[in-house]
Amino acid sequence: MNRSIAAHYSAGKLGISFELFPPKTADGDETLLAHVRELVRFQPGYITCTYGAGGSTRDRTLEIVRRVKKQFQIPIASHLTCVGSTVDQLRRFLADAEQHGVDYVVALRGDPPRGELAFQAVEGGLRYANELVQLIRSEFPQFGIAVAGYPETHREAASPQADLENLKRKLDAGGQVVLTQLFYNNDDFLRFRDRCQAIGIRAPIVPGILPVTNLAQIQKITALCGAKLPTDFVEQLSRNADSDWQFQVGIEFATRQVMQLVRSGIPGLHFYVLNKSQATAAVLNAVGIARAS
Ligand SMILES: Cc1cc2nc3c(=O)[nH]c(=O)nc-3n(C[C@H](O)[C@H](O)[C@H](O)COP(=O)(O)OP(=O)(O)OC[C@H]3O[C@@H](n4cnc5c(N)ncnc54)[C@H](O)[C@@H]3O)c2cc1C
Repeated sequence: MNRSIAAHYSAGKLGISFELFPPKTADGDETLLAHVRELVRFQPGYITCTYGAGGSTRDRTLEIVRRVKKQFQIPIASHLTCVGSTVDQLRRFLADAEQHGVDYVVALRGDPPRGELAFQAVEGGLRYANELVQLIRSEFPQFGIAVAGYPETHREAASPQADLENLKRKLDAGGQVVLTQLFYNNDDFLRFRDRCQAIGIRAPIVPGILPVTNLAQIQKITALCGAKLPTDFVEQLSRNADSDWQFQVGIEFATRQVMQLVRSGIPGLHFYVLNKSQATAAVLNAVGIARAS
């Protein structure tokens, strides 16, 4: 049975998803699960867990999604990248993911390993995410598939148009939903969505939201992923180093951002929660997304 991840984005209801990463320690798992308990009260359609560079978190990713599913009875997605893996290793991961109850795969190429400038496929491996989508669709058709999209254009793309054509290739290969890179200028997202529609992309395009809680942390994250931080937002955050103050400024920004996106008719929201519940919960409460008691 193919579990379509697109079914979470039906008209009239905002599909919510949360992205976690595997904690480094077992103690961290318990803390994470306590945060997930708070987040599931917002009735997300599914929860995802990232896959570390070069497969470094392979088993931990599966362990986290297994525990989240077991404890909260909620559909789960494992991320998977092509980095450092042969096709046989990718097949083994997908077979293990099936055993762990994974419903969906977020199919990615991944970034070049630290210290390397360009992505190099290993011998017997894959070069681009569309090839991974193809592998999943043909050999593991039971998984729903999400792919990554870039409102500000992926930093290695030859041009914005080439990047869009790549996105379309991933969807034509079997991707069902686009989860976007985090961004802080809604106009970038809205333009990207228009351009996707213009080249015939019909899959739900779900904005990726990371509520800022700390300036230094978000500057590190955006330096890695290439997303731009608006100058006036940075100025506002820099005015006071107090952590409560920065949290408040970040929540107010994310609330305005999400409200504007909701008014523009987005199908859902994908939150990069950074393994904590407070910021995302504050934004969802502020925009009036119902929480079960
Ligand atoms: C929602 C989301 C979740 C993520 N989760 C993770 C994670 O768990 N682990 C992790 O390591 N990283 C993760 N990333 C980061 C991601 O791995 C990087 O952004 C990576 O650099 C690109 O991955 P991709 O799947 O978009 O690659 P691709 O779609 O393969 O694209 C990579 C680059 O190649 C270009 N391209 C694609 N196909 C072709 C072609 N045929 N010819 C020429 N150029 C082409 C594209 O335009 C793009 O510039 C995530 C990103 C997002 C948005």
